[in-house]
Amino acid sequence: MNYKEFINQIENFEDQYSKDIDGSSYFSFPLAPILEAETKLAAPTVKSTAYFSMEYGLAPSIYNTLQLNRPIPEKNKFFKHQVFSNYWISDYVFKIDIHKMLDIPIYSGGLGVLAGDTVKSMADLGLSVVALGILWNKGYFKQNFWYKYGQVPEELSWDPHSYPGLIPLKNRVRIPTRQGELVLRLWKYYVYSYDKKHVVPLVLLDSNLPDNSEHFRKLTDQLYRSDQVFWRILQRSILGIGGMKAIDELKMRPDCYHLNEGHAAFALVEKYVQLADKSRMAAEKKKFVYTCHTPVAAGHDRFQIAELSAIFPDNYVEAAGRFGKEFPDSSDANLTFICLDNCRHVNAVAQKHGEIMRLQFPHFASRIDAITNGVHTHTWVSDPFARLFDKYANVFGDWRRDNNRLKEAGRLLKNDNFRRDIFEAHQANKCQLFKAVKPWKMQENVLTVCWARRITNYKRPSLLFHHVEEVLNIAQKTGPLQVIIAGKAHPMDTAGASHIQNIMEHVDRLNKSHKFFKVLVLENYDTYFGKLLSNSVDIWLNNPLPPFEASGTSGMKAILNGVLQLSTLDGWVVEAEHDDIGWIFGWRHHGPEIGDEGNLRLEEDSKALYASLKDAAALYYRTNNNGAVDIRSPWIDKMIHCVERAGYFNTQRMVQEYKAKMWA
Ligand SMILES: *Cc1c(COP(=O)(O)O)cnc(C)c1O
Repeated sequence: MNYKEFINQIENFEDQYSKDIDGSSYFSFPLAPILEAETKLAAPTVKSTAYFSMEYGLAPSIYNTLQLNRPIPEKNKFFKHQVFSNYWISDYVFKIDIHKMLDIPIYSGGLGVLAGDTVKSMADLGLSVVALGILWNKGYFKQNFWYKYGQVPEELSWDPHSYPGLIPLKNRVRIPTRQGELVLRLWKYYVYSYDKKHVVPLVLLDSNLPDNSEHFRKLTDQLYRSDQVFWRILQRSILGIGGMKAIDELKMRPDCYHLNEGHAAFALVEKYVQLADKSRMAAEKKKFVYTCHTPVAAGHDRFQIAELSAIFPDNYVEAAGRFGKEFPDSSDANLTFICLDNCRHVNAVAQKHGEIMRLQFPHFASRIDAITNGVHTHTWVSDPFARLFDKYANVFGDWRRDNNRLKEAGRLLKNDNFRRDIFEAHQANKCQLFKAVKPWKMQENVLTVCWARRITNYKRPSLLFHHVEEVLNIAQKTGPLQVIIAGKAHPMDTAGASHIQNIMEHVDRLNKSHKFFKVLVLENYDTYFGKLLSNSVDIWLNNPLPPFEASGTSGMKAILNGVLQLSTLDGWVVEAEHDDIGWIFGWRHHGPEIGDEGNLRLEEDSKALYASLKDAAALYYRTNNNGAVDIRSPWIDKMIHCVERAGYFNTQRMVQEYKAKMWA
C-alpha cells in the first residue's frame, strides 16, 4: 500500500484527519511501518495471521500515547474517581482527579487487557498480523459508587471520531439477516511496537450507521450487553462473520485464523458459507486455532438452532448446526464446541487450566495444549523499574527487545547495591501511588495490600473481610495495615454487586480503626489503576477459588515491579509455586473432579489467608522498620525472584509459543 492509497480509504480525511496524518507521520508516530504492514498483509507470499477478539484493552493512556493535533474533547478525557474508605472525612471532600486521555473503551477486563498485550507483543516481534474486534460506541460501563449501597452502572459516552489514532474507513461489510442486511463500517487503529518500527492494524467493526435500523445501530453500543439472546448472537456474528468479511474487503490474505475465546466461532461458519466447493472445508479448518480462557460454565455460549433461524438465512443456520451440534439431534449450537471440534490447535491459558480443560472436555483431551499467559512488559513496567533494569544492563542486556532477559535477575541476589536499589525503586512507586490518593494520608512505611480485579463470585472479593477482627488483630499486634480494593462487577452479575455492597458495609464499620487499618475502595478500576496499583503496593492479593481462575494476569504486572504475591494456588501461580515470590495459602485443587463453583470455602480459606498475612506482616516490619531498611532481608530475595519470573510471564514469550505451536 502506498500513502495515497492509505489516505484514500479514510472517510472524511480532508476535514477530520489531514492535520494528524501526512506522508511521514501518523498522529505523531512514524507512518512507514503502517504502509509496510498493510503491504505484507496483502501479499500472498507472506505468512500472516488474523487474530479475533471481542475486546481489546490497549491502554494508550499509559503506553504509546498517540497525539492529536487539536485539543482532546472533554468526552475523551478521564473522569474523577470517588473513594469509599474508613477515613470518611476525605471521602466527602475529595475525589481522585486524574487529567489524562480516556483509554479506548473497548474492553471490560482481563480478557481484553490480555488481547491488547498480545497484539502489542505481536507488533514488538514484527509479526504480520491483523487484529479484528468491535468498536463499542458506549464502551463497557462507567462505575459509580453509591455510598454504602455498592455500584451503580452508568452509560459511558466517548467520541471515536476524535480519538487519536482511530480512523474510519470508507469500506463497509454486510451481514445478511432475516431483518435485512446488517451494514458495518470498518475502523482502524494501529498498534505500534515498542521501538515504533512495526505495527499491527486493529480493524474494528461498527454498526452505528444511518443505513441500519435503530435496532441494528445499537448492536455495537455496549460490550457484553447480555439481557437478550438476539443481541448476544448478533454481536458474536459481527465479530466472526463480519470479521471474516472485513478481511476480504480489505484484501488481506491471512493463512491462519486465531480465535481468542469462543466469541469468534462464527468465523468458521462464515468460511464454510463462502466456500463454493464445500469439500475444501477440511483443508480450510486446518487454518483455524482457538484459545480458551475460562473454566467457568457461564463463559461458554450456546444458542438454540431455533434462535439462529429467527435471525439468519438457511445456509448460515445449516452451517452453524453442522459445526456446532454436540450430537446429531441436538437443538443447540455450542460456540465452544465449534472451536474445539474444528480448530486445528486448541490451547488453554495456563498449565493448570490445561489440566482442567482436559477434564471438562475429555473427548478433545489429546488436542488441548496449554500456553501460559503473560503481560506486555513495556506497558506494565514502572519507570523506576525500567531505570533499574537499565542501570544493571550488564545483567539484563537489551531487556526491551528481549523481555525474557529479566530471568537473569537471580544473578543479582547477592549484590547489596542492587538489593538497595530495588527496594528504593519500589518505594518510589509506592510514593507515586500515595500522591494520587493524598487526601487519604497513606503512609509509605506501612504494609500495603491490594485486591483489584473483576468483582465476581469465584474470585472471592470479600475473603479478607470474612473475619475482619482477625485482620485488626494483626494490624494491632504485628504492625499497621493499609488495604486498597478496586473492581467492577458486570451489571447483570447480582452476586458480584452484592460483594461490593458487602465490602462497603465492612469498611464503613471500620471507621474507628483507620489509624492502624486503613481501607480504600476505588471507583472505576481500569488499566490506568491496574498499572498504578499493581506497580506500587507491597503485596498483591489474589484469592480465587481453585480451580476456577484460568490464569489471571494482574499478579504478573505486580511481579514485574517486585510486588510480592499473597495468593491461592490457581492459574499462573501454580507454575510459580516453588519460586519464592510471596505466600501461597488456602484450599488446593486436585483430582478428577472440578468441584463446586458455589462452595466458596470462605471459612477455611479466610483463616489460611490470615495466617499468611500475619507472616507477611512480620517479615515486612523486620525489613522496613519505619524507613530503616534491612537490605539482607528475605523479603528482598522474594522481590528479586518476582522479577526473575517476570522474564517468563510475559506476552513476548507467550506470542513466541503461539507462533511455534499454534500457527505453524
Ligand atoms: C490486568 C487487568 C485485569 C486482569 O486481572 P486478573 O488478575 O486477571 O483478574 C483486569 N482489569 C484490568 C483493568 C487490568 O488491568
